Amino acid sequence: MMLDEVLKANKNFVKDIEPKKMSHMPQKKLAIVTCMDTRLTGFLEPAMGIGRGDAKIIKNAGNTIVDRDVIRSLAAAVYALGVEEIMVVGHYDCGMANVDPEKINAAMMDRGVSPKTVEDLDLKEWIGAIDNEEENVVQNVKKIRGSPFIPSDVPVHGLIIDPYQGTLEVLVEDK
Ligand SMILES: [Zn+2]
Repeated sequence: MMLDEVLKANKNFVKDIEPKKMSHMPQKKLAIVTCMDTRLTGFLEPAMGIGRGDAKIIKNAGNTIVDRDVIRSLAAAVYALGVEEIMVVGHYDCGMANVDPEKINAAMMDRGVSPKTVEDLDLKEWIGAIDNEEENVVQNVKKIRGSPFIPSDVPVHGLIIDPYQGTLEVLVEDK
C-alpha cells in the first residue's frame, strides 16, 4: 500500500524541516477554485507565482461548484481569512470532460451501489462531469458571482491553464 511509502517519505521529509510559525491568513489574499487533476499538483502554484502561505486553494472534480461546499469554503476564506479576490482556474484536457455517465453508472453498480441510488443521482452535476472546459469555468464564475454569500466587492475571475505548457488564459476578468 502507498501508506508505507508515504510514511517513509515523511520520515525523510521532516529531517530537513526547520519549523517556523506561519500565518494561516493567505498572504496574497487570494482564493483559487480548481480541479483535482493530478497534473496540476505542484504545477498550478508555480505557474501562478503562488507559494506556501499565499492562497487558499479549493479543489474538486472538474472545478465544478456542485453544492454549497465550495461556496462555504469561499465564504470562510472571505469573511474569516481575509481573501479579497477569487479565481476559478479550469484546465484543458480535463478528465471530467466528456465522461460517459453510462460507464460510471455501471461501474458504481459493479462496486455495490444500488441501482436505485444510481438512478436517483444527477450524475453530471454530482460527479462534476463537464462538456466544455472553457464554458465550465465561465459557468462556475457565474455561480460564485451570483451567490448571495460572496460580497460584490470581491472580484471573481475565470482562467484556464494548459496542463502541459503551463500557459494561463483569462476567460472572465472581473473589474
Ligand atoms: Zn480536471
